[in-house]
Amino acid sequence: MEEKIWYTTDFIREAVKEDIASGKCTEIRTRFPPEPNGWLHIGHAKAIAVDFTVAAQFNGTCNLRFDDTNPEKEDMSYVEAIKRDVKWLGYDWEDREYFASDYYEYLYDLAIKLIKKGKAYVDDLNDQEMREYRGTAVPDKNNITHTPPGKNSPWRDRSIEENLDLFARMRAGEFADGSKTLRAKIDMTHPNLVMRDPVMYRIRREPHYRTGNEWCIYPMYDFQHPLSDAKEGITHSLCSLEYEIHRPLYDWFITEAEVYPSRQIEFARLNITHTVLSKRWLLQLVRDGHVSGWDDPRMPTIAGLRRRGYTPESIRDFLGRISVSKTDSMVDIQLLEHCLREDLNKRALRAMAVLNPVKLVIENFDESEPVALEAVNNPEDESAGTRTIYFGRELYIERDDFMEVPPPKYHRLYPGSKVRLRYGYIITCTGCVKNEAGDVVEVRCTYEPETKGGNPANGEKIKGTIHWLFADTAVPARVHLYDHLFAPERPMEVEPGKTFLDNLNPSSLTVLDHAFVEPCLSEAEPGQYWQFERTGYFTADPDSTADLPVFNRTVSLRDTWARMEKNKTKS
Ligand code: ATP
Ligand code: MG
Repeated sequence: MEEKIWYTTDFIREAVKEDIASGKCTEIRTRFPPEPNGWLHIGHAKAIAVDFTVAAQFNGTCNLRFDDTNPEKEDMSYVEAIKRDVKWLGYDWEDREYFASDYYEYLYDLAIKLIKKGKAYVDDLNDQEMREYRGTAVPDKNNITHTPPGKNSPWRDRSIEENLDLFARMRAGEFADGSKTLRAKIDMTHPNLVMRDPVMYRIRREPHYRTGNEWCIYPMYDFQHPLSDAKEGITHSLCSLEYEIHRPLYDWFITEAEVYPSRQIEFARLNITHTVLSKRWLLQLVRDGHVSGWDDPRMPTIAGLRRRGYTPESIRDFLGRISVSKTDSMVDIQLLEHCLREDLNKRALRAMAVLNPVKLVIENFDESEPVALEAVNNPEDESAGTRTIYFGRELYIERDDFMEVPPPKYHRLYPGSKVRLRYGYIITCTGCVKNEAGDVVEVRCTYEPETKGGNPANGEKIKGTIHWLFADTAVPARVHLYDHLFAPERPMEVEPGKTFLDNLNPSSLTVLDHAFVEPCLSEAEPGQYWQFERTGYFTADPDSTADLPVFNRTVSLRDTWARMEKNKTKS
């Protein structure tokens, strides 16, 4: 499976080979660098797969590094969640766990080195002024972007001594938040705005979840990241495409700080239809209560996918099928679901559940004891064996498996029709009982005792097979059905005045409170995979109790992706 991811990363592989051939590096080292300010989503899973796979293919190693230099948003609970999710996906960083916050002293020393080289200065401009001095990109009439040169800060030419003194006092807490910054001295006329004297340190009095109140200055990402990579001897720093314009700066800091020359290589971010893959937007969904939490089964987070019933194997399979390239693209969520169905079809144990029950009475069943029947646990895997289920006078079937007046091609129950009960008998519908409101409360049938196992007498053709449960042993359950979290394919494309929240799908969750499941499901646990015959793949939700098991529908059985692919090859 990992192999597949490997074959789609050839531009990275070529770069790595080049560096080995030129003698620049021998042992390949990569890193996955999450900021602990949210839970991982499937976009991160792509980055994880690329980072770990590239390292593994060259017999190298991959570090897990927490890029934790924003005290406002970071938290230990995120660190724990991230570690759990990377492990669950099947990747192992062993003991190579690092924190950028452990490098604060090292980074501070390198900042001093840059000041001493005349490559950094303390600035008194505030945020707003700094932006004005830097300038912005402006499109002309022909929509060609121009970046008029910025101008130097009046504080740019402070002496090295003054800068050293001021920077030490920034650290010592002598200045107010936001009143001073340390900036790299590069070029205020550079066509790439990123290179116009970027900020290296800011003053921020905010306790950090690991360093507490030890620091009141914090390094900025663009300064911290390359130097942390260098500290760990990262040979190839793989990241998403939005960092491409930052690469000259990445290289500048490495060159000027005179540290190990890590090499940054970018690849396209993963985007998937009907969802958003940015921590910022996901955090908003959680904070504003649009979902029940980071692990809501509708979320594209790893924890959400796990709770929904995704397998790590299906996610890795998916990541191997999408290409890793240099151009951004949108992947159809149906491909992810297709990979999931393929995996679940092989491994999920089958069982029966009735989601919208109506009673079915077998009028001619007059045995004193229920009849034991044998049901297959997984037709794709003989070793999964069989189980015993029971049949008696009163059963439950799906409400929509009976119609008093059937439409054409309806092969289920209607007065006079014959169907097969899965693993049971051939039955004939004799009618139904209704309440005063006219709702069907009971379907009536007779059965043919000699058709035990579901084989019709005299080779008769029976078109419909339905699932059912024996009422005496059926276990009440709650079932959650899910649809896309966002109705449109591209939720971030919104009309003026609207936000992505206006694109939320109001019916993304349906709760069925009166479902029934087979007795074997009363002790189902999260992390076990089931197929409820005819209704989809399900997994137990952690909110299940001894009295009421709760099941999440992972995905329905119908594979629209496979059908689309088939139609493509036909036409
Ligand atoms: P946000 O989602 O808010 O933009 P982020 O993606 O920058 O946050 P980080 O914790 O900084 O979150 O990401 C860690 C790594 O994961 C980075 O190297 C980043 O490039 C990569 N990454 C994040 N999102 C995706 C994505 N959708 N596809 C591929 N890689 C991603
Ligand atoms: Mg980031």
